[in-house]
Amino acid sequence: MSFIEIICPCGRNNKFYKDCCYLVHTNIHNALTAEELMRSRYSAFVLCNGDFLLQSHSIQFRDASNMHNTIRWSRSVAWNRLEIISLKDGLKHDTEGSVEFKAYYKEKNKLKCIHENSSFIREDKHWVYLDGL
Ligand SMILES: [Zn+2]
Repeated sequence: MSFIEIICPCGRNNKFYKDCCYLVHTNIHNALTAEELMRSRYSAFVLCNGDFLLQSHSIQFRDASNMHNTIRWSRSVAWNRLEIISLKDGLKHDTEGSVEFKAYYKEKNKLKCIHENSSFIREDKHWVYLDGL
């Protein structure tokens, strides 16, 4: 089974990865909303796609040297699921938006959760992650 035949890690409507975040991972302009970019970043964490995580991070905060550690950490945990809690703006014609989410993962057999309200902006005509609270 090729990796694109898996169900997408982001869990959106149980779509196949090839019909969901793969489209964004291969062309970031395919994320039409902040939510889609958020989902594709979660999937990139699950699939340890550091190149996409860098590309989808605002140029202001992009840090290639830190990405190595981030990916090493991501490989060491078992990602469980993504839950979108709320959305603010971030639609097709917006220039900024935010997504509140919970990302669950298991680390050393304990279920943990990242609960974040992430900000997204349009940069170079596509959505990028700015920062999170
Ligand atoms: Zn997806």
